[in-house]
Amino acid sequence: MQAMETETSRIIVVGAGVVGLAVAWHLARAGAAVTVLDPEEPGSGASSGNAGAISSSSVAPLAMPGVLKQVPGMLLRPDGALRIPPSYFPRLIPWLSRFLASARPARVAEIADALALLQAGAVEQHRAMLAEEGALDLLRETGQLHLYFDDAHLAKDAGGWALRQKHGQRLEYLRGAELHAFQPGLSPRYQLGVLMRDLGASTNPRRHAEVFARGVERMDGRILKGAVRALITENGHVTGVATDAGPLPADRVVLAAGAWSAQLLRPLGYRIPLESQRGYHVVLPKSGLDLPRIVVAADRKAFISPMEMGVRVAGTVEFGGLDRAPDPRRAAYLLEDIRRVFPAASTEGAEGFWMGHRPCLPDSLPVIGPVARWPGLWCAFGHGHLGLTGSAPTGALLARAMLGPAPNTPLSAFAPERFT
Ligand SMILES: Cc1cc2nc3c(=O)[nH]c(=O)nc-3n(C[C@H](O)[C@H](O)[C@H](O)COP(=O)(O)OP(=O)(O)OC[C@H]3O[C@@H](n4cnc5c(N)ncnc54)[C@H](O)[C@@H]3O)c2cc1C
Repeated sequence: MQAMETETSRIIVVGAGVVGLAVAWHLARAGAAVTVLDPEEPGSGASSGNAGAISSSSVAPLAMPGVLKQVPGMLLRPDGALRIPPSYFPRLIPWLSRFLASARPARVAEIADALALLQAGAVEQHRAMLAEEGALDLLRETGQLHLYFDDAHLAKDAGGWALRQKHGQRLEYLRGAELHAFQPGLSPRYQLGVLMRDLGASTNPRRHAEVFARGVERMDGRILKGAVRALITENGHVTGVATDAGPLPADRVVLAAGAWSAQLLRPLGYRIPLESQRGYHVVLPKSGLDLPRIVVAADRKAFISPMEMGVRVAGTVEFGGLDRAPDPRRAAYLLEDIRRVFPAASTEGAEGFWMGHRPCLPDSLPVIGPVARWPGLWCAFGHGHLGLTGSAPTGALLARAMLGPAPNTPLSAFAPERFT
């Protein structure tokens, strides 16, 4: 008799972003036969252009109490960190109403608990994966420095800092001359810094994802070029995916298509409120800055990250869906941001005016775990602003949930059913 195929033998992962690749890496490492499908090159989506922060203690949701008060100020400035094109606004209302509902204090505490459980060991988990792939040079463990004008300015973010502290993050406050000695070149506008020494960063997020891809192949997984057009169902189960080259059967399918994930779930009766928060970056190859760690300008919500290719300035949140063309002015504003923070930074040869789609759920929690009404289908998407950070922990968690031994972290907070 032919040996019964183990349940884990054929798993398809839809999407080769850093999340799908981390999931595939852990599945392959646990012995599953994994195929990853993506029409684009591995790691070329949002995962290629992010700010590189591995922010394990970033547990405050975007929707914090009082968020509504900050929005008009950001929207009214043409160079504001938030933009909603007026024509897109009506489409966004249901998402926004869920977003505001998430800002209730009790819900904020639940979300922070869930994010803390997911992300607590993120730096260590990235380190372990990169070490296995011989790519530890990608990981920088020098922390993050967040900049404020003064105590009153810091007070606006007090809720977020309190949540970080509650979940074990040690904060060091640097003031005045001490701050400027610690990080030379800063504008005198900034007189207060919050330093977190134990956070990590990737020196090249695209290569980071490519290293995960190489690891999948090293462990006999396959990475194929091709778009998944639909999930195939039979007798109430998901049994594979439809591609342009024909159907591809599988014992289980993991949906990890970033901001594109919700559209594949719709025909199965799941309407997940997934929005793209489009973010931008520019790269300064010759900034002339002495920058040992990520610096975050709290007033502009801009991340200034030292990377292999130069200093990357990343940020802004722009709604507008998946198809609207990028707005080059958004990237240009980032150049102004770096001049505001580091007045002497050289923008000579600035390049890489890039836009990517952060996959965002209104409650700032990703969707991770089984799809209750469709056995065979699992999810790993919606990591929003924290998908690089969350990729390694998500991969480890989902592989254990799928293949055992059962993880200690409950998946209920991340269930897709919370929206149905
Ligand atoms: C400006 C900016 C700065 C950021 N900074 C940080 C940061 O500092 N730290 C952090 O942790 N996170 C950061 N993020 C967020 C992070 O980049 C994302 O959360 C993360 O990259 C999402 O990964 P993903 O794999 O889910 O999506 P993606 O990287 O977008 O990958 C999804 C993949 O799915 C594929 N796909 C789509 N449809 C299909 C289909 N039908 N069939 C097959 N494949 C499909 C796409 O081609 C794509 O390759 C930032 C994001 C931006 C935009």
